[in-house]
Amino acid sequence: MNDLPNIELAPVDIEPYRSGNTGIPFMTTFDSGKPGPHVMVMAVTHGNELCGAIAVDWLFKQDVRPLAGKLTLGFSNWRAYQSFDAADPFASRFVDEDINRVWDVSTLEGDRVTVETERAREIRPLLDDIDLLLDIHSMTTVCGPLMLCGPHQKGRELAKAVGIPEHVVCDEGHAAGKRMRDYGGFGDPASPKNALLVECGQHWEARSAQVAHDVILKFLEVTGVVDADFVAEHIKVAAAPAQKVIEVSGPYTIEADQPFTWKDNYTGFEVIEKGGTVIGWDGDKEVSTPYDECVLIMPNRIKSRGHSAVRFGRYVD
Ligand SMILES: [Zn+2]
Repeated sequence: MNDLPNIELAPVDIEPYRSGNTGIPFMTTFDSGKPGPHVMVMAVTHGNELCGAIAVDWLFKQDVRPLAGKLTLGFSNWRAYQSFDAADPFASRFVDEDINRVWDVSTLEGDRVTVETERAREIRPLLDDIDLLLDIHSMTTVCGPLMLCGPHQKGRELAKAVGIPEHVVCDEGHAAGKRMRDYGGFGDPASPKNALLVECGQHWEARSAQVAHDVILKFLEVTGVVDADFVAEHIKVAAAPAQKVIEVSGPYTIEADQPFTWKDNYTGFEVIEKGGTVIGWDGDKEVSTPYDECVLIMPNRIKSRGHSAVRFGRYVD
């Protein structure tokens, strides 16, 4: 990338949270001693996504303790995060592979050994106890924040209860492997467990830290961890425009060994009026929108074969 975005955020020191109290490095659980859900806020699933670490560090420093149930604060791919270098900021997304594509049971119980499969195996027993998960992310392109709520109604309802950000995207995930938010009961429509993945904006724009901060506060209120007074005292942007829901029909998965070539400088949420409109090229292959009024979600300029170039969707309300 020669058009490197400005790096407006700086990584915070998460070393004080290494020992935690769960036996798993960088995982800390606070137990209210009262009945209630086990709620988790996870940062740095991707190591170059700084906003989650900043917001979770703030929560620790506020000494937030759950009013009911349990609260776990975690830093998923801490090794990747600790390798963050502002001079090469894309390099620290992961160490060996994307930890948010290893949550298929076949992978978790298979024999592939990477930094990320080993870390996922280490986290898995704790994750099995989580009822409500918020996984904090950010994006490569400068794009408004969005909540990825998964394919099921329960995810959509939780996203609507949280109330921010404005865009809620209902999707199945990626061909390249299962995300944490789709693991186990989170991805089972019959389970009361639920999970959200928030994309807070571009990785290094200051706004992404504000979005992460506010979304965590609203999520913790909705899940009964903190009360409305705490949220009102600390939220940075109180106004919440009416949410818009986009149903994703599927990702376009890249076949060529090179990044996708885009026809225009799409940044996400563009609505392409006519089905069959060419939006770019996968190697030599022309790629067009599958239907009218198609919304482009998270167009990616970096990934190549096997990864999602974009998701196609429709506004539903
Ligand atoms: Zn991410």
